[in-house]
Amino acid sequence: MPAPTAISVSSAPAAGEAGLRDRFGRTITDARISITDRCNYRCVYCREGAEPARAGSELSWEAWRQVLGVLRRLGIRKLRFTGGEPLLRPGLEAFLATLAPLGFEDLALTTNGHLLAERAAGLRAAGLDRITVSLDSVQPEKFARITRVPGAWERVRAGIAAAVTAGLEPVKINAVLLRGFNDDEIEAFAEFARAERVAVRFIEFMPLEEGRLWTPEIVVTMSEILARLEARYRLEPLAGERSETARRFRFADGAPGEIGIIAPVSRPFCGHCSRIRLTADGKVRTCLFSLREWPLAPALEAGEDGLEALFRRAVAHKEERHHIGEPGFQRPSRTMVHIGG
Ligand code: SAM
Repeated sequence: MPAPTAISVSSAPAAGEAGLRDRFGRTITDARISITDRCNYRCVYCREGAEPARAGSELSWEAWRQVLGVLRRLGIRKLRFTGGEPLLRPGLEAFLATLAPLGFEDLALTTNGHLLAERAAGLRAAGLDRITVSLDSVQPEKFARITRVPGAWERVRAGIAAAVTAGLEPVKINAVLLRGFNDDEIEAFAEFARAERVAVRFIEFMPLEEGRLWTPEIVVTMSEILARLEARYRLEPLAGERSETARRFRFADGAPGEIGIIAPVSRPFCGHCSRIRLTADGKVRTCLFSLREWPLAPALEAGEDGLEALFRRAVAHKEERHHIGEPGFQRPSRTMVHIGG
């Protein structure tokens, strides 16, 4: 794949230009970009089985550069790259290096960490600020069963260590909890946070998987997680930004590490959602649970004005909230791996 070329786009928000604001008064400042929906793991709670054969439908790096230039001008400050597994997309570091002139305040990446040990230093040098690594068990054998990849644990551990060394901090570890599956590890994850000096964030499982595993009962809720942790540790709440999705805590005994709990099911945070999502095949989604998508392709042909009009139209239709657990809740047609987690 050729290295991305630096094409000319407006790189700074114009003074006084209106940003992206939806009809509920929420200002959109964050974009989550899926750069591929291929993945080298088949996590049992996410994927059904083998990777389906697919035509190369990924948006080119040049197109992404153009889209991100417009988003920056419209007030997007933070970007998170995800997938699929984003480290599978060739040319990521070269692409990141072209983003510096756009002046985003925060460039982050979510990865399964499998390829991170050999990539962390290069990602940092290319301008990446922070990294989140997914890790759903601290037991090597169980982790291999979850990911269906032998030796995954050792690779991810090495990736986390390399990220810390490279200065991609704070390194956050995301763990999706499922009842009867890995909820016996809540305390072990807390010990991992303390020992490895990282932020472990527990995430409530959402109905976005390929297999139909999700039930309200399988979700391990924030109150349950907190009760378990507080039986063993004294936790002190940490102040966060209003748009932050995680409730954060530190250990009162002064141990390093941090706990976060992200509770989209039991305590939805839609009221202060500041995010849009872009899929690897170039669709804008205004919610994980959107039933409607906005294709970038026609807007890309129309240039910067076309893209701006598309983003304004999509954000004007941003959903008030997701409806998980409500009567009539409809799953989106795409699953997590094809939206970008
Ligand atoms: N491959 C990268 C990784 O593993 O982090 C990025 C994509 S992955 C889909 C992003 C995150 O979404 C992972 O932390 C994963 O555990 C989480 N995830 C997947 N399915 C989920 C679900 N149904 N509910 C909540 N989180 C989910």
